[in-house]
Amino acid sequence: MNRSSNLKLLNNKIFDFIIIGGGATGLGCALDASSRGCSVLLVEKHDFCKGTSSRSTKLIHGGVRYLEKGQFSLVYQALKERDILYQNASHLVNEVGFLIPTYNIFYKIYYWLGLKLYDLISGNKIFNKSKMIGKKEAIFLVPNIERDKLNGGIVYYDGQFNDSRMGLDIALTASDNNAVLINYMSFESFIKNKKNNIIGVNTTDILTGNVYKVFGQKIINCTGVFSDSILRKDSFNSKPLIKPSQGIHLVVEKKFLKGDFGILVPKTSDGRILFAVPWLGHVLLGTTETDIDKPVIDPSPKKIEIDFILNTINKYMEIKPKKSDVKSVFVGLRPLISSNKKGKSKDLSRTHKIIISSSGLVSVVGGKWTNYRIMGKEVIDLSLKKMDQKFVKSKTETLKIKNGLSKVDLKEKSLSKNFYLSKSQIIHFVRNEMAINIDDIMSRRSRCLFLSSEESEMIAPKVVKIMSEELSKNQDWIDEQLIRFNKLIKLYKI
Ligand SMILES: Cc1cc2nc3c(=O)[nH]c(=O)nc-3n(C[C@H](O)[C@H](O)[C@H](O)COP(=O)(O)OP(=O)(O)OC[C@H]3O[C@@H](n4cnc5c(N)ncnc54)[C@H](O)[C@@H]3O)c2cc1C
Repeated sequence: MNRSSNLKLLNNKIFDFIIIGGGATGLGCALDASSRGCSVLLVEKHDFCKGTSSRSTKLIHGGVRYLEKGQFSLVYQALKERDILYQNASHLVNEVGFLIPTYNIFYKIYYWLGLKLYDLISGNKIFNKSKMIGKKEAIFLVPNIERDKLNGGIVYYDGQFNDSRMGLDIALTASDNNAVLINYMSFESFIKNKKNNIIGVNTTDILTGNVYKVFGQKIINCTGVFSDSILRKDSFNSKPLIKPSQGIHLVVEKKFLKGDFGILVPKTSDGRILFAVPWLGHVLLGTTETDIDKPVIDPSPKKIEIDFILNTINKYMEIKPKKSDVKSVFVGLRPLISSNKKGKSKDLSRTHKIIISSSGLVSVVGGKWTNYRIMGKEVIDLSLKKMDQKFVKSKTETLKIKNGLSKVDLKEKSLSKNFYLSKSQIIHFVRNEMAINIDDIMSRRSRCLFLSSEESEMIAPKVVKIMSEELSKNQDWIDEQLIRFNKLIKLYKI
């Protein structure tokens, strides 16, 4: 993926699809359309997966809690996608076991029945089946589990992944299928014909300020929590579709689990579930659901959310994490579909919706990472049927996702003691994965900032120096990058 060569491909061309937004949804559409042989342009205002798609709980799952709500078809679809992703991106998806600790026999039986239903719906042979276990085994699997009154629990298995690396690998796979992907390219407005049909977009290159007019047969809005702002540029009267809901995760050291199993707290005081997920040698604690009014690209955690997570998880851990144990905190915004009914965002559906406006704009809203492929398939199926184009079937069910890091030497000395980031990797990210700013490397190509804000601050000068040599940038650029990055780091500290 090379940004300057991709920019040259914008002139004098009518694309079959122009996709706005380079998160899970947009990348899924780009991969589906390009692998069917369609010409595709994807524009992302910031970096690929800079939004919600790098800030998930990192689970490829059916969603056990949707069973309680009776959303069986959502669970069934996601579990099917879980298997497909496991097979097509085995370098990024692994199985992870969770303990649901129980302190009461009634709940033990209740959760066991629920998880048996989960196994039954999944119907697969890939992931291990759930089972009821006693106290001794529960302590063996999660040595840091709170032992007082513990009577064992239920063990169940789901998929786990590295969300932004998955996004980049999907981008690379789409690029191999001739999709043109450009980060730091902002959609500004629509170009319409006399019949008020959308025929193209005006975009701005954020790095240079250059403006591009690009034409396409179908324009797809995949901007997550920002979808309403794009819809308003199509029609000023469009009704709001999205109700953003904020979720935070605290990152702590592995000693708070001690083993490879995670914990699922099945019912928190606000009626949700809470995870302690082992991830890249650390533990993620989350998440929350806080309604917010206006989406921003770099949201910040609220004190009440941090306290809620620590207070809840502390009831289930022997060594209890304190604020000072938190290495990093990251915040994501769920693009939930708003409903007319009053209620909390935890009760809103996680299904997705595809909407086509009278001027032909296709918007896909809601959904979850796990379903990125099926969402892409449905959007392109529907769009192709409305276009003057031969219908070609989706190929993504069996399409392997490329491993972008397969040729990078992982034995070279790391710049950090806490996590792996080498000079060769940094050069690779700049040359082959369109890394432009230090945040692109520290947050999404590697996950340093998500794992430790303090360590990221320490190694940032070395990282930016290597980038500057590769990009032929001067000291002013280095200084500006560090100022911006240090400001960003503050959002990851508590
Ligand atoms: C806390 C939390 C935990 C979650 N955990 C899970 C999980 O474990 N498993 C799971 O399956 N799902 C999970 N999800 C859901 C999942 O992460 C989201 O559904 C998914 O990432 C949404 O992707 P998206 O592409 O629609 O949105 P985004 O990733 O936000 O992408 C939208 C993109 O549009 C870009 N954009 C905006 N305006 C413009 C413009 N004018 N021009 C160009 N580009 C623009 C943005 O920069 C952004 O990159 C979680 C969500 C949250 C918030």
